[in-house]
Amino acid sequence: MIFPAEGFSKFEHCPRLPQLERTFQPPRIPVREAVKLYLESGIRSIMASQSTEPTVEAFLSEAAATGYLYPEGESYTICQDHASWLDGALRLIAEEFQPMEQLPLYKIGEHRVNVEGWDDVERAHIFRATHDLSDRSLRWPELVLSAMDGREICIHAYKMSSVRSGRLASPLVMAYQHPSFQNINYRLAKLDGDKDFKKSWKRIGRWEIQPNPLWEEWRRGIEKDRCIDAIRETYTVSPTLDTEQRDRLLFDVEQMCSAQEKPSIFPRYRERCGSCVMNGLCHGDEYSRSLYTPVNQAELERYKNRLEKL
Ligand code: SF4
Repeated sequence: MIFPAEGFSKFEHCPRLPQLERTFQPPRIPVREAVKLYLESGIRSIMASQSTEPTVEAFLSEAAATGYLYPEGESYTICQDHASWLDGALRLIAEEFQPMEQLPLYKIGEHRVNVEGWDDVERAHIFRATHDLSDRSLRWPELVLSAMDGREICIHAYKMSSVRSGRLASPLVMAYQHPSFQNINYRLAKLDGDKDFKKSWKRIGRWEIQPNPLWEEWRRGIEKDRCIDAIRETYTVSPTLDTEQRDRLLFDVEQMCSAQEKPSIFPRYRERCGSCVMNGLCHGDEYSRSLYTPVNQAELERYKNRLEKL
């Protein structure tokens, strides 16, 4: 079986979660998680020299069809803000990177592990959305690469804040306009010593401005208002594991893969389940469970066998 390295982070949250996510599609997922998935597929398009517009369209189509789970606020606005963020982040990545090869699958014991990352021959690259650009704690994708690849790893982090007051604040999404003079050019951020910029300026989403600004114009605004550092951060990780550290890391990966193959040995949690998308499946009634769509028949059979034993 192939295990995504991202799944090890989920395993640390709940050992049952990665396997349930492989088996079932929840009725709806949080909009933030959806953006992360579409960011991943958009980057695959970029690396295949394809346009990213269909990715953003697919994100909006899914919003219109099944819908997402939204934080408090007006769902349409939050959805459009996230679509603008996805569009902007993908455009920046397309602007900065040439197509690269996907990293290979890594064989660890009996298992194979997929790190969603890219190879420019000299280094490995990982892209991620984060809500804190200063957070450089090591995650499982770079841990696996440290043990299995050994080259320098470039992490490209794109800031996706949490929704506040019903809006997604990011210079990829939001501009500021003078409250009375709407014909005045919008601004994306305040510069040091900038006396003209007032807090009373009205926030407005890129998608709300009429006529809709071209990306090239918005990109010039990012440059002019010097806000690229508030959007993305790139840093490198240089693996420094000795043989013992490497062996211990690989042992842990192998154990997590084996444990994911038999998640019913772990109890269902309770305290952390309220915010989990699998709550209805783990703790719901028959109707709640029926809302989850099986996406993997082989996994489903194994899941049913285990249920019979509970
Ligand atoms: S609902 Fe609870 S037990 Fe089920 S996967 Fe989520 S965190 Fe784990």
